[in-house]
Amino acid sequence: MKEAVPHPFPTFVVGSLPRPAWIRDLIEDRKAGQIDAAEANQLLNEAIPSNLKMQERAGLDYVSDGEWRRESYMKVFSESVSGFEIDTVSAGASNFPQLRYPSVVSEMKAHRFIAVDEIRFVRGHTDRRVLAAIPSAYTLGRRMWDPRYSTGAYPTREAFMHACIPFLRREIRELMAIGADAIQLDDPWLALLVDPDYREREGIVDLEQEISLCVECFNATVRGFEGAFISVHLCHAHFNRAHSTRGPYHLIMDALGDMNVDRIAMEFATPDAGGIESLRRFPRDKLLGLGVIDHTDPHVETPEEVAGRVERAMEFVPPERITLNPDCGFAPSSLNPMDLDEAYLKLKAMCLGARMLRERHG
Ligand SMILES: [Zn+2]
Repeated sequence: MKEAVPHPFPTFVVGSLPRPAWIRDLIEDRKAGQIDAAEANQLLNEAIPSNLKMQERAGLDYVSDGEWRRESYMKVFSESVSGFEIDTVSAGASNFPQLRYPSVVSEMKAHRFIAVDEIRFVRGHTDRRVLAAIPSAYTLGRRMWDPRYSTGAYPTREAFMHACIPFLRREIRELMAIGADAIQLDDPWLALLVDPDYREREGIVDLEQEISLCVECFNATVRGFEGAFISVHLCHAHFNRAHSTRGPYHLIMDALGDMNVDRIAMEFATPDAGGIESLRRFPRDKLLGLGVIDHTDPHVETPEEVAGRVERAMEFVPPERITLNPDCGFAPSSLNPMDLDEAYLKLKAMCLGARMLRERHG
C-alpha cells in the first residue's frame, strides 16, 4: 500500500467537475464540427487553468483538469481509439433520454493517448498532486459493446473487454512516465451490479461470474505497474442529481479485496449507497477513498458534517487508511448540468473538514 500524501486525511477529486455553460456548448460544437479541434483545444487551454486555481483555493491535495476536454469520462476512450460509431445506444438515463453512447463496430486502433495530453497540461499548471482518470476495461465493455453492432468486430463482450486492456496498459505506462501522481481506473459498472433491478435490466444472471470478469480485467490492466499509485472509483452512476442504481456494497466487498489496487474511492455520503456498515468488510490492505460529499444534494455540507461522516467510517477503517473525496465526479458527462460554484463550496467544505480531522486525530 502506498502513502498518498505526507499528512493524514488527504483530499482527492474523483475527476470531473461541472463545466460552465460555454464549455458545455464548446464540447457540443466540437462534436458537431462547428469548431475545429485545434481551436477548441486552444480555448480549453485558456479555461482550464482557472479551474485548477479553483481546486487549489478549495484546498485539494490531488487535482484534475475537471475532465473539461472530454464529452464524458468514458467517451474519451472512443475519442482516442478508432473503431467506434458514435451515439448508437441510449445511455438509459430516464431523466435525459438524449444522452447516448458509442458502440465498437470495427477493430480498435489507437490514434492518440487517452489522458496523457490532459495530464501533461495539468502538470504544467499546478504544483499540486495530479490525478489521472481513465475508464476500466470492464466498464467500457458493459457500455460500448452491443450485440446489435459489435459482434463483427469482437464476437463477445468479454473479447472486447480483453482487447481494451493493451490500450489502457500503454496509457498507464505513459502516465507514469510523465509524472501522474495517482492513476485511477473508473469502474462504476462493478458497483452497479449491487442493484438487483439493474441486473435484471441488463439480463445479468450469474453475478459471481460478472464480478470475477471485472476483477480479472482490472488486475490484467495494472499487472506489473508496482511503481504506480493506483486507485479505482466505484459508484452508482448519476445524471442531473439522480442515481441510476442504488444499494449497499455487500455483494462486491470480497471482490474489492481481490483487486490489485492501492486505493478504492466509493460513494458513502448519498443514502442511495445504503449506509456505512458495508465498510465492515472493507479490505484491510487498501486505502479507502471515502465519499463524504453528496453531489446529488444541492445542500452544501459543512466541514463539521464532513468530519462527522469520516468519524463514522473510522468505526470500521483506521484513520491512516482513510482519504476523502466527493462521492463521484460532479459531471461525468459534459451535458450534466451541475453548478461549478456549488462544487467549489462542497470541495472547500471537504478540505476544511479534513483539516478539522487532522487537528482532532492527526
Ligand atoms: Zn462515479
